[in-house]
Amino acid sequence: MDKLAELAAKQGTVLGDGAMGTMLHRAGLIHGAPERWNVERPDVVLGIHRGYVEAGSDFISTNTFGGTRNRLALDGLVERVAELNEAGVRLAREAAGSRLVAGSMGPTGELMEPLGLLTPDGARASFAEQARALKAGGADFALIETMSALEEVQAAVEGAREAGLPAVVTMSFDTHFRTMMGVKPAAALAAISALGVQVIGANCGNGPGEIERVMTEMSQALPVGVVLMAKSNAGMPRWKDDRITYGGTPEVMADYARKMARLGVRVIGGCCGSTPEHIAAMRSALA
Ligand SMILES: [Zn+2]
Repeated sequence: MDKLAELAAKQGTVLGDGAMGTMLHRAGLIHGAPERWNVERPDVVLGIHRGYVEAGSDFISTNTFGGTRNRLALDGLVERVAELNEAGVRLAREAAGSRLVAGSMGPTGELMEPLGLLTPDGARASFAEQARALKAGGADFALIETMSALEEVQAAVEGAREAGLPAVVTMSFDTHFRTMMGVKPAAALAAISALGVQVIGANCGNGPGEIERVMTEMSQALPVGVVLMAKSNAGMPRWKDDRITYGGTPEVMADYARKMARLGVRVIGGCCGSTPEHIAAMRSALA
């Protein structure tokens, strides 16, 4: 059993942390790779992690979501994959103490062939490169998140394992309750559990209402031994003054946490727009 599934078995429910990206934007990150701040503004990243520790998170996720060479190349950082990922894990490790550290791995941003140029081998090598740095920095598992394509999920799971990290996978069902690539919740659950992944679920998307329907569908098709995980955005994303905002209050997220627990979701966290305040409200709701 991997460490997160083990913790869920021991505690019943595990509380994750909240957003990193939207917290960095609040702190002044305007453009460029957020991973750069693991080296240039480590105080800010560490402060965000500490906020989640104080709010009651049981594990802390690294600021490495865009840490594959494919994503970092967009900012001319392809030579710095190992450095930026390892620095990210060290910051999370420092704040986490004895809590678990999730090494965040997001999509490469490229399409797999035949739709795009990315090959399964190329994708696996990119994820393995990132995962080796996450492992070296001290991550307990790879948190493969916001995924849309099952082929890319498989490449990420294999890459993480190649580096010695167990994989936890969440996909985003933000296109009429399917991923952007058309995958439905129950089909995702079946395919990812067939890869031997123990903790599976959904993250990001269009807020708690969408996640609730997705997790209901997953809970009705739950394979034996699989632990469900949900990470909802703090409300529905809306455009305001040329940027995306999330209006979900801590009370909205507390209500979401209770609903998830009632559905049998055992790992519950927040995604975009969620802050330590939201996580603290979820902690009280789950107590
Ligand atoms: Zn999100």
